[in-house]
Amino acid sequence: MEVTFSQLDDTVARFVLSEATHAFANTLRRAMISEVPTLAIENVRIYGNTSALFDEMLAHRLGLIPLKTDLSVHAPVDSCACGGEGCPGCTVIYTLSVEGPRTVYSGDLIPQDPEAVPVHDNIPVVKLVEGQKLVLEAQAVINKGKEHVKWQPTVACGYKNYPVITTSEECDGCGMCVEECPRGILAVDSGAVSVLDGRLADCSMCRLCEQACLSGGIGEEPGIRIAADETRFIFVVESDGSLPPSEIIKHALLYVKDKSHDLVGVLTEISGGIADEEGS
Ligand code: SF4
Ligand code: SF4
Ligand SMILES: [Zn+2]
Repeated sequence: MEVTFSQLDDTVARFVLSEATHAFANTLRRAMISEVPTLAIENVRIYGNTSALFDEMLAHRLGLIPLKTDLSVHAPVDSCACGGEGCPGCTVIYTLSVEGPRTVYSGDLIPQDPEAVPVHDNIPVVKLVEGQKLVLEAQAVINKGKEHVKWQPTVACGYKNYPVITTSEECDGCGMCVEECPRGILAVDSGAVSVLDGRLADCSMCRLCEQACLSGGIGEEPGIRIAADETRFIFVVESDGSLPPSEIIKHALLYVKDKSHDLVGVLTEISGGIADEEGS
């Protein structure tokens, strides 16, 4: 198995996974979405709320604010040494106190841990008019996306097969498929169609080029054929900013590795039991 990155920065990773199966690619995708822990607000104590929003709606909005997460500092609350009671190792406390007239933003949340700030400080929470006030204390904990979407570290995470484009000798270079391609990745060169250099991965496999060729009366088989490489996958992972994409990929791979070891252990136990039964 091989991974080749074409982009890796603080928010986006694009890479090609080669020599893999669909099952593995989808397992990795699901692990990145639902098995990588992040920090999110879980409990809110409201001391004063004279805004137009109910307490529950405010708590819901606060829960969806992405928070900077450092998994080397904070552990999931259910595996923390405090036994789930809440301590600085698994919980971050925020305070917020704002008086109108003005809009309350995510940046108004003051964290106990200065590293665990909201990813963006300009997310609107509620608009306060003259005389309205909001005072609260919020508790953020580490958990996983499989528990609630607010703990998902990704805003986009998906893959597609690597496209394979072939042309036949029937192609006369008429250019109809070139005009039809919505991605603009085809060109006619020396009387035959070809893919522009470095643009193959941009093919969406919509097959409009095949249809355009057939509509030109070429016969039963189009001059251009689109297929999918079943062992290569193009991934795009976009983080919500709580964790960098490199961390999301690393933790997802570690999760898959751990689960694979668990599965091997269980299968070994079962096959050992069957062998014992057959031997007795
Ligand atoms: S593949 Fe078909 S549509 Fe495209 S240039 Fe060749 S003959 Fe024309
Ligand atoms: S499948 Fe779609 S995107 Fe790909 S080359 Fe054909 S028309 Fe272009
Ligand atoms: Zn704890």
